Amino acid sequence: MEKPPRHPSVNGNIPQPIRPDGAGATDLGPRDIMRDRENPDMLVPPLTDAGIVPNLKFSFSDTNMQLNHGGWSREITVRELPIATTLAGVNMRLTAGGVRELHWHQQAEWAYMLLGRARITSVDQAGRNFIADIGEGELWYFPPGIPHSIQGLENGCEFLLVFDDGNFSDLNTLSISDWFAHTPKEVLSANFGVPEEAFADIPTKQVYIFQSEVPGPIGEAKVQSPYGTVPLSFTHNLLAQQPIRTPGGNVRIVDSANFPISKTIAAALVEVEPGGMRELHWHPNNDEWQYYLAGQGRMTVFIGNGTARTFDYRAGDVGYVPFATGHYIQNTGDDSLWFLEMFKSDRFVDVSLNQWMALTPRGIVSSNLNVGPELLDALRKQKWPVVKYPGYSYYPK
Ligand code: MN
Ligand code: MN
Repeated sequence: MEKPPRHPSVNGNIPQPIRPDGAGATDLGPRDIMRDRENPDMLVPPLTDAGIVPNLKFSFSDTNMQLNHGGWSREITVRELPIATTLAGVNMRLTAGGVRELHWHQQAEWAYMLLGRARITSVDQAGRNFIADIGEGELWYFPPGIPHSIQGLENGCEFLLVFDDGNFSDLNTLSISDWFAHTPKEVLSANFGVPEEAFADIPTKQVYIFQSEVPGPIGEAKVQSPYGTVPLSFTHNLLAQQPIRTPGGNVRIVDSANFPISKTIAAALVEVEPGGMRELHWHPNNDEWQYYLAGQGRMTVFIGNGTARTFDYRAGDVGYVPFATGHYIQNTGDDSLWFLEMFKSDRFVDVSLNQWMALTPRGIVSSNLNVGPELLDALRKQKWPVVKYPGYSYYPK
């Protein structure tokens, strides 16, 4: 038997905006085929997508790099992704010895170490200090207004910073070099009790990131404060946490329940295995800010009134979900999909569609959706909610 002709959308591996039923037409150009390949669900949206939905995706690869001797940074804020008002993210790299200078800001800072190691330092309002070396999969949290620094160790590092305000910019913080540069030398002299000459060579503007030497062992670097160390640790090892295992993946949840200092940012580190799906759900507390760490996937967001849209994501992309809107994430690759979901909140919470339906009288579900016993029996068999996490449940096992 003769093979049917290949559909035009796959001819020559050039993706075309044509549905299997023939709807659409070839794109004659101009076009960015690389981009189209990365966004198959935007080029040919699922038939269930409809209506006007704001953009819920931005890639760090589409941002402007700040390059310094000692490292780089780039950010996704409300200026890049206008709907993302609750949180802003910064991707930063520090070389071995590279320093993100002594600074502070009005927003809380939450961070996840992607690769390598860094040393962080901080002093709180009561003179209690904190120093720690941070490795892959570990977090830190600096409360609003508390001064700090970050320095790359041995082979340098790369990390993600998240701030609890979409308007934040890491290039617009309060830094020690900036303040010195804008304070008269006679005032510096009076404040520190040393001659003005001591300040002859201070920087004339914000340093931001600079190259320094790799610091020695942490024990030698520690400064003994008469007031001791901070009462709540500024770090947490998220990757070392025992994951909650589910049929299609794993999740590690971190919020003020197990990382008490983190009062304004809650997060989950999610692994969706090949063929797996982050189930249909929503969050009753706040918007969701996502950072894709590895693999590729697609998310469909239902925002009500007949509207839904699907976006494709891969490592280095940021996704966003408005408060309480329904969504699910499918792994579309051959490897595990890893991402962080984060919330401006003290607790991680979500509502599972399955669990809601399973715990609602069958008659209502059956007549509302016009579904038979097959679905109702399947819901009953699911062992919801078996995974207990302090104060709430998460995922059927
Ligand atoms: Mn900071
Ligand atoms: Mn979610």
